[in-house]
Amino acid sequence: MQPGDILSYIELCSEEQFNIQKGMNFRTQNGYSIFLMSVRPNAPYADRVEDNGKTLIYEGHDCPNYKNLNKSPKEIDQPEFMPNGRTLTENGKFLQAVKNYKAGQPAEIVKIYEKIKPGIWAYNGFFKLVDAWQEESNGRKVFKFKLVMFNEKSNDLTNQTLDHNRLIPAQVKQEVWKRDKGACVQCGSRVNLHFDHIIPFSKGGSSNTAKNIQLLCAKCNLSKHDKIM
Ligand SMILES: [Zn+2]
Repeated sequence: MQPGDILSYIELCSEEQFNIQKGMNFRTQNGYSIFLMSVRPNAPYADRVEDNGKTLIYEGHDCPNYKNLNKSPKEIDQPEFMPNGRTLTENGKFLQAVKNYKAGQPAEIVKIYEKIKPGIWAYNGFFKLVDAWQEESNGRKVFKFKLVMFNEKSNDLTNQTLDHNRLIPAQVKQEVWKRDKGACVQCGSRVNLHFDHIIPFSKGGSSNTAKNIQLLCAKCNLSKHDKIM
């Protein structure tokens, strides 16, 4: 799997070998953590891409919607602890991982998937969790987690992997998916799709505009790269 690959929810669960039910999953059975980036309808994107597609700022998660709560979770500071005041929430676990990292331990590795639409996900790659903080958002405090793209194959930076090391912002992915109608622009296939840079990043192509991104299936992607190289 390469960053930019598109998969169904079932493929995602089969890849991770469990049913992923929540957005933040600290240290799964696979030895790494998993974040799902979900875009809330009619809301500004809280997750941001920075540093030319190499850094991601991920927003923490709200307090669960407890029945005895007389406020919406959106009006309450995102919690570090469960209501018992001792057990860490997922926000708290990742915050602790950052503290450990700053104290000299290895960074937590986080695999990230991003929702394109219900049942359709894009794989964004592996990241290192390097920082966390709280900031004000609409009158309450939210957690922010800073993740830096991390390529296991960084010793082998071909043009193709360099392209895949550049994150395409959520807005651009949404726009491309709609424009290309969820199908390969060359053959119309709806399986094994990938967000492809029309002009490769390494040749000056941008990740930040839908004009330079298209949907290609694995087959057409392969034949395109054969032509370029
Ligand atoms: Zn195709």
